[in-house]
Amino acid sequence: MKAVVVNPNAKSNIEVIEKELRPLKSGEALVDVEYCGVCHTDLHVAAGNFGNVEGRILGHEGIGIVSQIADDVTSLKIGDRVSIAWMFHSCGRCEYCTTGRETFCRNVQNAGYSVDGGKAEQCIVAADYAVKVPEGLNPAQASSITCAGVTTYKAIKVADIKAGQWIVIYGCGGLGNLAIQYAKHVFNAKVIAVDINDDKLTLAKEIGADMTINPITQGDADQLIQEQIGGAHAAVVTAVSKAAFNSAVNAVRTCGKVVAVGLPSETMDLNIPRLVLDGIEVVGSLVGTRRDLEEAFQFGAEGKVVPIVKTRCLHEVQDVFEEMEKGKIQGRMVIDFKQHSYR
Ligand SMILES: [Zn+2]
Ligand SMILES: [Zn+2]
Repeated sequence: MKAVVVNPNAKSNIEVIEKELRPLKSGEALVDVEYCGVCHTDLHVAAGNFGNVEGRILGHEGIGIVSQIADDVTSLKIGDRVSIAWMFHSCGRCEYCTTGRETFCRNVQNAGYSVDGGKAEQCIVAADYAVKVPEGLNPAQASSITCAGVTTYKAIKVADIKAGQWIVIYGCGGLGNLAIQYAKHVFNAKVIAVDINDDKLTLAKEIGADMTINPITQGDADQLIQEQIGGAHAAVVTAVSKAAFNSAVNAVRTCGKVVAVGLPSETMDLNIPRLVLDGIEVVGSLVGTRRDLEEAFQFGAEGKVVPIVKTRCLHEVQDVFEEMEKGKIQGRMVIDFKQHSYR
């Protein structure tokens, strides 16, 4: 089968190779991949930012059809459409796994990083961790919910936003556009979208943002938000920028919550009097659990959230990585593996 693997000496640190998968072990299923989205995290993994994983098959936004199961698998059957997500497997026994926080398991496995992922014609999954895609959800769109969708849906849950309250979304790219849709159409919040790119803000308005701010042309987002609405109740930062994190802390009102999702490898400023005297909370949110993904998929199936995806051919994958590196992408690029089927 064809697979996209990490190769530090190739264009965009990746190449497409022929690879054979091993036979299934207990508890596993084989998935014939239909689609797999390209995520910023793939770029980090390929560049070796999280350690050298040369030869690893990338991909944690995979969707495909179960074509084989191990004898002891009861949670899936052949023909089921399932996800291949970053949250690939966890120990199931630790304090995090048993309290609804399995993404923080210290023995977690991540698809396309610590184990082979979904950017291939086939992928072996841990059957109990592959989440079923509901009827009525387009599989290319589902691939985007597998990572960007569940990550932002979970972040808004963590933000604890109530209907009618204001939430600021920093960054309106692949993650942010879904954050806006979940915040607006699922949580019924009022949404402020912040981005330094006007095209992304135009899109943000189209998909439901009540207010948009470009800090480059309009001035400090936090100041504007404080002036116009007295501060937001919560902020979700998807932007990979220290400036956005610092702005978010100043954009929320007293007892506001800042949820960190983007991963710039920097330190943010956190004014201690601001934190203490105003009761600000700052918390990280990491992808989502299997249950979160089930819920995020269901809202997609109901049409409340519509991921903006564009399908691309496998042979274009290096170009897609390059375009993403340069910030040229609107919504999500999804590699279509069906048209390369050898079956
Ligand atoms: Zn991702
Ligand atoms: Zn665990």
